[in-house]
Amino acid sequence: MSTGSGKVVIIGAGAVGATFAYALQIRGAAREIVLIDMDHRRAEGQALDLSHGEFFTPPVDIRAGDYQDCAGADVVAICAGAKQKSGQSRMDLVETNIGICKAIVEKIVEQTAEAILLVATNPVDVLTYAALHFSGLPKERVIGSGTVLDSARFRHLLSRHCGIDARNVHAYVLGEHGDSEVLPWSITTLAGMKMEDYCRACPQKCPDINSQQIATEVRTSAYHIIDAKGATNFAVGLALVKITTSIIRDENSALTVSTLTGGQYGISDVCLSLPAVLNSGGVDRIICPKLTGAEQAALKSSAETIRRIQRQIGLP
Ligand code: NAD
Repeated sequence: MSTGSGKVVIIGAGAVGATFAYALQIRGAAREIVLIDMDHRRAEGQALDLSHGEFFTPPVDIRAGDYQDCAGADVVAICAGAKQKSGQSRMDLVETNIGICKAIVEKIVEQTAEAILLVATNPVDVLTYAALHFSGLPKERVIGSGTVLDSARFRHLLSRHCGIDARNVHAYVLGEHGDSEVLPWSITTLAGMKMEDYCRACPQKCPDINSQQIATEVRTSAYHIIDAKGATNFAVGLALVKITTSIIRDENSALTVSTLTGGQYGISDVCLSLPAVLNSGGVDRIICPKLTGAEQAALKSSAETIRRIQRQIGLP
């Protein structure tokens, strides 16, 4: 169980970490937010800037700190490390970020064995597996942001196409947070109806949905954003808030976080995204919706992509 302190420590006060802190502050879900960065001045500057917004948000204590501040935290998020440059894939970051992840996780576990570790640094599935390995923490308490963001992108595109509130769309992206991710159309529902039933019943005369184009847009949207502005930060910040809130408030939300597999769809010993129920204990349970044969095969292939990189860098 989380400590119930409402304290969130964010390691890495760059674009992702600072935006996560900002969204968390506005949401009012945390009582205390501590920013840690190897560039301590940057963490101090971000914390000061954020804390000046206190008048406009629910009360929260925001400051820069160091690893001792991980003690008593509910959630410690890892947002530190190299980010994708234009044309780079997430997997291209693994050599640099694995070392950063190891150093950070070792410092965290010196201070706390109770916090839930939330990994956002890419490649997030490999690093979640690595954090689990380096920390020795139980599997339910080491999670990655996984495809929570990709699932939100999928919902957004369906919402736009169908002219319906994104909150009435239930659509999940599974597998790797990356190029091999899987969009299982067979479990996608709108307003409680399977996609094809919804489209049949809908009086709007919109063009047929181009599932290939939507899948490509979901997979490549990060590349377009990085080309345009150098980083993705707003939607991922909100995704991290959703995950954190589900933990702090014991919400039992079903989210596609990256978590250790143990035989689901015949996949073991890699972290990847499946719908998982998240509460104050971390991942309470993984849900395995019925997928088509082709979707299951794509999921296995995505798991193999992650496993190949794990082996390449010497993880067990
Ligand atoms: P950024 O360059 O803006 O910030 C990274 C920060 O990490 C910097 O402030 C840097 O000083 C700090 N840092 C580096 N090494 C450190 C260490 N050893 N200890 C402490 N701090 C350290 O990058 P960003 O845009 O914030 O991206 C951060 C990571 O998040 C990247 O790996 C990026 O690919 C990833 N990301 C993940 C998602 C997702 O959905 N999971 C989405 C967007 C970005």
